[in-house]
Amino acid sequence: MTSAELLAELERRQAMLTGHFLLSSGLHSDRFIQKFRIFEDPKFADPVGAALADLLRPYKPEVVLSAAVGGILPGYIVARALGVRDLFVEKQGGAPTLRRGFTLKPGERAVVVEDVLTTGRSTMEVVDVALGAGAQVAAIGAIVKRGNPTLPFPVLALLDLPLADYPPEACPLCKEGIPLQDPGSRRA
Ligand SMILES: [Zn+2]
Repeated sequence: MTSAELLAELERRQAMLTGHFLLSSGLHSDRFIQKFRIFEDPKFADPVGAALADLLRPYKPEVVLSAAVGGILPGYIVARALGVRDLFVEKQGGAPTLRRGFTLKPGERAVVVEDVLTTGRSTMEVVDVALGAGAQVAAIGAIVKRGNPTLPFPVLALLDLPLADYPPEACPLCKEGIPLQDPGSRRA
């Protein structure tokens, strides 16, 4: 699946919303990617996972890590295509951690998979859990990269879609008094 094919399919499935949105990063935007429209249809999700797996395979991942809840399905579809384990990080008392019996081996090569990469904040929480367990982080994979965060690892994205995101105090949509919608799935 090429970037153009992914974008066309997101638009066809009405996964690209226009309005005034609160992103999980805390930024405001006039665009929102309703990413679960990808995962609701396995016939679409599977080739997306396979395409992202193709980008990550050269980094020889042994395990996929992602952030609950939004990252669980993207992590799984990529791990299945790579044929490796799939773990997710979730908050316990506010601290990102591995639960449910998940463990990483020292030196194990992990890739962190995101659905939509914006600020990289949740990505770095997952990275910190991996490094804290003694694993290596080989690369970051995202279905859509809408921001341009500086991350100390190779970042591979199926679709690079720079969008205008604003801090709330500098948001032109707030200034116009347009009601803010909160469609996100993650609130730390
Ligand atoms: Zn705003």
